[in-house]
Amino acid sequence: MDALDTLVELSSQMELEHAEETRRPSSQVEASSSEPTGHPSCFTPKEQRAAFAHPAQLPNGKNIILLKTLLSSACERDCYYCPFRAGRDFRRATFKPDEFATLFGKMHQHGMVQGVFLSSGIAGGGVRTQDKLLDTAEILRKKQGFRGYIHLKLMPGSEKDQVFRAMQLADRLSVNLEAPNTERLAKLAPHKIFIEELLRPLRFIEEIRRREPAYKFWNGRYPSAVTQFVAGGADESDLELLTTTQWLIKNIRLQRAYYSAFHPVRDTPLENKAAVNPMREHRLYQASFLLRDYDFELEDLPFTPDENLPLHSDPKLAWAKVNLLHSPIEINTADKHQLIKIPGIGLKGAEIILNVRRTNKINSLAALRKLHVLADKAAPFILLNGKRVESQMSLF
Ligand code: SF4
Repeated sequence: MDALDTLVELSSQMELEHAEETRRPSSQVEASSSEPTGHPSCFTPKEQRAAFAHPAQLPNGKNIILLKTLLSSACERDCYYCPFRAGRDFRRATFKPDEFATLFGKMHQHGMVQGVFLSSGIAGGGVRTQDKLLDTAEILRKKQGFRGYIHLKLMPGSEKDQVFRAMQLADRLSVNLEAPNTERLAKLAPHKIFIEELLRPLRFIEEIRRREPAYKFWNGRYPSAVTQFVAGGADESDLELLTTTQWLIKNIRLQRAYYSAFHPVRDTPLENKAAVNPMREHRLYQASFLLRDYDFELEDLPFTPDENLPLHSDPKLAWAKVNLLHSPIEINTADKHQLIKIPGIGLKGAEIILNVRRTNKINSLAALRKLHVLADKAAPFILLNGKRVESQMSLF
């Protein structure tokens, strides 16, 4: 097998990793984003390229082609949902750090990819596997002088000095928590330890951020921290997932939680478990952005008695129907906190409204439509100069 074939093998299941997906949940709502167009020219056949090259949008909004892959698909763990679990009949492949770095360097030179998201199955323990990921990133940065985007996965049980080293090499670090707490994780991954192995490396990131000045890190910035959950894999509720998400946002400044709706994989212990409706992912993203950016608290979210979000309704709209329909917000006097609670008004729209208001009153829905807001969606919940406004949009 040549290096490119190995890469195709190793990347074949990376759609399971949602981190860095270009397709942004529509809940990033009201702030519009443009999708990247086209791929760079490339010397591989299209079907090979598709296996590992993913259009991705970086936290700064830049669109790149990201190489998403594993360093090794051999794994000694036996997580119930995973195609790489130990003992499953699956063709394994492994790169040595310098082999991968050399291949990546060539691909980068040819314009095929501009960044890398590197994870791995575990062999010889999480610490040893982490060292290999770190060695790879170090070759890319120090020997090859690569200055582009690196997202490194932190392995279960990574040590603090490894996390520090990773922070000096990468733009983003992630630990997949998979489940929201110890009890739920046991239903998904019997040999992963929630607090000691998974949560602790995420906490190290924040502890190191507080201890060390930013100039010590890659490009003079602290890398961001993200995680991923297998939504519905452990029969957990949305409330459980969002409680943990909110804790992470508040306590370790988590940049983002990714949710991957459970999908059964053949020849795993969960192969007969029903797939989770992808709409659940979407509602979880919407709710997590409300918690992170829109000053919502968990108790504001419209959980059903079984502690899940309704699949059929947008959580922000559901909140507004209960709280704003009879107490609409005056657009010309509301502060930012009030504006961003209104459906149809995102963070950018609220800023624009506040700016425009310094010199002009906003007198009509037509004027509001020009300000990067979904005015018809907002209409039932607002006043303009003390008056309700007519909207063409149906509320229900
Ligand atoms: S440790 Fe990772 S690669 Fe290994 S079985 Fe679990 S999820 Fe899969």
